[in-house]
Parts: sequence; structure tokens; C-alpha cells
Amino acid sequence: MLNGIVNVRVVIAASRPLALASGAFALVGLGGYAFSIEDLYRPIEGGPASHPMTLLVVLLLTMAVTTRSKRGGMAAAVAALAICLLRVFPAIPQDYFEALTPFGAIVRNELALGQKNAMGVNTAFMLLLISLAALSGRSRQTKRSQTLAFLSLAFPSVAITGYAYDLPKFYGQMSLSTLTMGIPLGLAVAGMTANRGMLRAVLSPHITGRISRIQIFLGLLVPFAIGYLLIKTVGHIGDTSMFGVFVIVVSWFIIFLVSFASVIHERVDHARRLHERLLERSASIDPLTGLFNRRKFDVLCQQEEARFCRSGQPLSLIVLDIDHFKRVNDTGGHPVGDFVLKTVARLLGDHVRSVDAVGRLGGEEFAILLPNTDESGVVYKAESLRRLIESLHFDPWSGHDGQITASFGCATLMKEETVPAIFERADAALYSAKEKGRNQVILSASVQETDTGQAQEPLEEVKSGER
Ligand code: GH3
Ligand code: MG
Ligand code: MG
Repeated sequence: MLNGIVNVRVVIAASRPLALASGAFALVGLGGYAFSIEDLYRPIEGGPASHPMTLLVVLLLTMAVTTRSKRGGMAAAVAALAICLLRVFPAIPQDYFEALTPFGAIVRNELALGQKNAMGVNTAFMLLLISLAALSGRSRQTKRSQTLAFLSLAFPSVAITGYAYDLPKFYGQMSLSTLTMGIPLGLAVAGMTANRGMLRAVLSPHITGRISRIQIFLGLLVPFAIGYLLIKTVGHIGDTSMFGVFVIVVSWFIIFLVSFASVIHERVDHARRLHERLLERSASIDPLTGLFNRRKFDVLCQQEEARFCRSGQPLSLIVLDIDHFKRVNDTGGHPVGDFVLKTVARLLGDHVRSVDAVGRLGGEEFAILLPNTDESGVVYKAESLRRLIESLHFDPWSGHDGQITASFGCATLMKEETVPAIFERADAALYSAKEKGRNQVILSASVQETDTGQAQEPLEEVKSGER
């Protein structure tokens, strides 16, 4: 459900715009102070306002996330942190804080009129955690950064519950606009390091990540919905704050449980996937040459045959065998033989299209499957490979001049023909090339219709000369 939309790259890419959106919000709020438009920093009439210092800290944190310069980012985060500390520590005289506050006169005036306008302790803690998270993120301490960023989200989530359940104690001094800035900012800071740690595990495209995302989504939605229903139905019986507390505790408990579990699941699943790939590789790749082995090549042939049936595009096969290879082994020894095999394999791999499949059928016999290739194409290709092999020059060894050749049998799949049948025809053509003196290409021509309409035995055409 949440796949495709939510993944590591998207989250990292989204963190800058998210932070910029918060910054834009903060600028709008400051604009409200500058031009005396109260609605811009107090979204609900008579409710709490976003304090100018809150807006300033949000701007600093936006810089901390979005600036390209590491030092600039750290400096902005440190400045934001310092302001939050001034607010949070009661030991520090509040005069300093007041003196530093831009538009302080407006704030004092509003307070004198009995309106709410303060940087609440919940707001200050939220921004303090975001500042610390940004600092940790900038110094590549992923785990700490993500944990702090997630913790910071606890404060706006308490406030959201307060607004949704109508529990003023829960949002206190945190205005709706502060909340709207805090959440994207917290998410943006967490998103900065989404390619590592817990977030990476939760965002994994594999089954572990998918399950975690659904669990987190439901872990947020279900307790929230149940709490809402309870408040609406039995809310009149007394103090409803306990519902809010319960919802928040359960949601966060689920989120932390799922996130930590997903790190472990992802680690185990990653090891399993790696193992699977290695097994798959060893089951399909020939270890000496790195080409497909017989088993995998057969599977590819079946797939291409199915495609041939659907599309009708021609499909061809080349089977080749190195001539007198026994002599190479006998004179140079097995290691030289292996080297020759690897060299030929690399040559074949380097001179086919990416859609062609090259396999080692066994010993010194290779095969190439060529989709979208007709009889003239396959002969042309085989002939050019034959020449390339012929022109290979190995350092001569005793009893051998270091030159090798190969014989080729080609066939193009006919309508209603099966893979074993085309193999048989290509093998027969190869055998015939050996018979006729080796180092040549022979095509097993398709069945020709005679005048009487009867099928004739496949013709074998000698396509290239012997040595
Ligand atoms: P022809 O021209 O008729 O194909 O003659 P040939 O000598 O190439 O044919 P034959 O099939 O008699 O010999 C194939 C040799 O390939 C025999 C075997 O020892 C050798 N061989 C098979 N697999 C390997 C391998 O992995 N490494 C090496 N070095 N030799 C191998
Ligand atoms: Mg041979
Ligand atoms: Mg052979």
C-alpha cells in the first residue's frame, strides 16, 4: 500500500522541501508580527500564538537542514539550540530571553491584554530535540539523530491529540501553526539520514519494511481512532485526559517497538537475501568462465521460445566447440586449457549484444542464444566470432603454436519447433562442421517446402572455409 511512494530516495529528497515549507511558514508568522496581521501567527482566535522566538528558531533549523555548507548548518543548529536552552532552563534569567525576542513589545502588549503568547516548554523541548537531531545528523551520528528527531515528534503529536480531543492541557502554549511547522521540520531532520539506521529499515522496499510501514500506520491510526470514539461516546463522564494519555503512550510504544524490530528484521532478511543471491548465482553461473551454465541456459532458451511464440520474432542458436582442445590440454596442461577456455568465454561475452545469452554447455563447448536474429544474421555473427577466435594469439607453448580454432553449428527456430529440436539441429550442424574439417560455420537450414508440398530434410550449407 505504502510502497512505491515511500522509499529512501524519496524521503531524502523530500527533507529539504519539507524543511523549506516550515521555514516559509515561520517567515509568514514573522510577517504577521511585522505588519500587525495577528491571524498569521495566531491561527485560532483567542488560542495560543506562535511566539516570535519560536518562528526564529524554526527559521534557523530550516537553514540547518537545507544549507549545503556543513559548517553553516551546524552553526544554525547551535544557535537554535542556544535559544531553546535559554527558554528551557529556569536557572537562566528570563530577562535575557525577553531581551533577545524580536517584536518583544508586541508580545508584552498581548500578554498584558491577557492573550496567550509564549514559547511553551513543549515547543521549546520539541525544537531543542530537533536542533540536537540536526547537529547529530550533520556529524553523521545517524542513530542519535533519528532517535532525537522521532522523540521531537512526540510533542506535536501530544498537541495534535489535544486539539483533536479538545484537551487544552495537551497543547498548552503550542499554537496550531507551531505544530504545523514542528512536524515537517522533525520529519525533515529524520529524513536527512534516511539512507541509514532505523529509518532505512522502516523504508526498506523488501517485505520487512513493508510490514513495518503498515504496522506504524495502523499503530498511529487505530489508537487515535479508538480514543476519539471513546471521547465522543463516554467523554461526558469525567476527566477525558486519560484517553489522550493512553492514545499517545500506545501509539509511541507501537512506533518504537516496530522501528527497533524492523532494524533486526531487516538485518536478518538482508543476510537471507544475500545468501539467496549467492545460491542463485552458483546454481546458474559456470565458475570457470562466469558464463551461464547449462541449466540456466536451458531456462533462458525456454523463456525465449515462449517469447518467440508470442511475438513471432526470429530466434537463433549458435553452438560452438573448440577444435582439438584435447591437444591444448595434453601439450600445455590443464591450467593452459583453462586459460584458453576463459579467454574464449570473455571474447564471446564481449562480442554479443546485451540481449544475447552466452552459456558454457560443458567442456569446451559453448552456446549463444540470439533473439531477433534470422538465418543470415546468425551466420554472419557466427562467422565473425569464428574469425575472432582464429585470430587469438596465445603465447606458444611446447608442442603447440598457441593458435586455436572453433567449429560452429547454427540454427534458427522454426514454427512449432521446440528447444530440444533446435539444439539437435545446431549440434548436427556442428558435427557436420567438424566432419568437414573444423574451423567453419554450418547452418542447419530450415525445412524447405518442395513443389509437391512435402517437407524436405534440413539442408546443411557450408558457410565458411576450412583452414
Ligand atoms: P574436436 O576438435 O573434435 O572437438 O576435438 P577435441 O579435442 O576438442 O574434443 P574432445 O571432446 O575429445 O576433447 C575435449 C577436451 O576438453 C577433453 C577434456 O579433458 C577437456 N576439458 C573439458 N572440460 C575442461 C575444463 O574445464 N578445463 C580444461 N582445461 N579442459 C577441459
Ligand atoms: Mg572440441
Ligand atoms: Mg567437445
